[in-house]
Amino acid sequence: MDWKAHVSPDHDSIRRWLPVSWVAVALLLGVLVLGACFQITHRAALADLKAAQENDMRARMQALESVLLRQRAVTTVLADDGLVRRALLEPDQTNRDRVSRKLDGLREQTDSAVIYLLDRNGVAIAASNWDEKVSFVGQDYSFRDYFSEAMQNAEATQFALGTISNRAGLYLSHSVAPDDGGASALGVMVVKVEFDGLERNWANAKARTDVVDANGQIILSSDPARRFVPASAADNMAVTASTDVPGTDWVMTVTGSARPALYAALFATGTAGFGLTLLAVLGGFALRARHRTISRMQAERRYRADLQHAVDERTRALSDEIRERQVVEQRLDRLQAEMVQANKLAALGQITAGVAHEVNQPLATIRLLAENGEALLSTGATSDVADNLSSIRRMTERISRITDQLRGFARKAKGELGAVPLSDAFDAALLLTTRGQGTQHVRIELPPIPSDLRVVAETVRLEQILVNLLQNAQEALAETPDARITVTVEAGRMVRIVVSDNGPGLPEEIAAQLFTPFLTSKPSGMGLGLVISQDIARECGGSLRAAPSRPGQGASFILDLPRAE
Ligand code: ADP
Repeated sequence: MDWKAHVSPDHDSIRRWLPVSWVAVALLLGVLVLGACFQITHRAALADLKAAQENDMRARMQALESVLLRQRAVTTVLADDGLVRRALLEPDQTNRDRVSRKLDGLREQTDSAVIYLLDRNGVAIAASNWDEKVSFVGQDYSFRDYFSEAMQNAEATQFALGTISNRAGLYLSHSVAPDDGGASALGVMVVKVEFDGLERNWANAKARTDVVDANGQIILSSDPARRFVPASAADNMAVTASTDVPGTDWVMTVTGSARPALYAALFATGTAGFGLTLLAVLGGFALRARHRTISRMQAERRYRADLQHAVDERTRALSDEIRERQVVEQRLDRLQAEMVQANKLAALGQITAGVAHEVNQPLATIRLLAENGEALLSTGATSDVADNLSSIRRMTERISRITDQLRGFARKAKGELGAVPLSDAFDAALLLTTRGQGTQHVRIELPPIPSDLRVVAETVRLEQILVNLLQNAQEALAETPDARITVTVEAGRMVRIVVSDNGPGLPEEIAAQLFTPFLTSKPSGMGLGLVISQDIARECGGSLRAAPSRPGQGASFILDLPRAE
């Protein structure tokens, strides 16, 4: 049976193990899972991005705040400086130069753009750039808000463009109070701070940093082009973090691109998609392998069932055959038994003729003796009558022995093997065979057989073999002068009986196929004697064969039979 056909899945079977609805459900699930994966990873990446941005913003804010605090401290400290105050009170050249030098030194230390001192009229009397080409000294700054506001409120802050430098900066101012605690200030101390360094630092980072004033104008930015431009709303792809700048009305905003979060989410989703595809492919392979295994197991089961069925059928057929053979064998046995009987009856036919002749003679003698006895009775010679009667008794005994043998031979064998005395079997066979017509001239040489020598056989059947052999020899010797049958007996583990004659020997065509049923050279023969004799010998555990024929030396048959203990 070709069960490979069940193993290799064709399209139909693939459809069977992976239905379309399953594929659709798996695809839908995959899309849902990937969508959820994108959402979750995008949100997490955005949160990370925002947290990082807030960290950056805090660091920038601290840097800005520290600059502001430091510069504010400079104005406060200088506003209280004795040298400054003296220069305002006594604005001679020496005092002013001294202050200018001091301011110049301080500017370098505090990293401010310029520090200068205004008198109560707003005119710069000393400045850190006093010795430079473009000096503030002598310039009137009374129009500046940081001056008027400081004169009024002690402190002021203003982000503006420098009138001389034209550079944007934060102006921090503080009024110089008189020694006596009077109400009107002596002047105003001003520090201009420029944030170029900070802005350069910010520009190094990817995220954009803007500081917007109360008017919504960008005053500081990592991108200088944006300065003094109104702040605009961030676009969708931006992540922003904002905070107020302490001590000012400014707001710092750090704006970064949200793309990294998008890319991270896309990468994660892609990886998950790849993993899911891999899983699906592996799952598909596993399903396919499982399906193959199941198909193979089913095929094997079918194969085994078919095999079992075939074996059962064959067993049934064999049983039928055995039964038929038994019937045939029984029939054969029956036929063989019938053949044995037929052979025996044939032999009996021949024997009977001899026996009739043998019986007739004593019968005639008995009649003669009886008639003689009657005559003697009338003479009163009773002793002669008694002799006659005893002769009659002997005669009848002889007749009855012959008829007994005949009856015994004629009866059917029982088929039971036993220990049969060989001498008894020979006696019976000789009694039956030595009385045929034309056999009187045959001399039979029989060795003395010990009465305790027994063979495994059945009496009637053993006699049948011996009768067949002796009769065949006698018939062959019909024309032979000085006819002789010689019997030899050798007893070992087997008993070998050889029956030889000095007749013409086996005819050539018969010798070639001896022991073949119905093979006979005699007009009235049946051709069964030797076949049946051989069968009987085999049944007894022995054999019967013809000795190799020697021309002009008669025939010789060898009968081997197991010796009975
Ligand atoms: P049947 O005696 O009826 O022919 P048998 O089977 O006894 O059948 O013998 C078969 C043949 O074998 C005989 O016809 C005869 O030709 C041959 N045969 C048997 N015994 C002898 C013998 N002693 N000498 C010569 N021929 C024999």
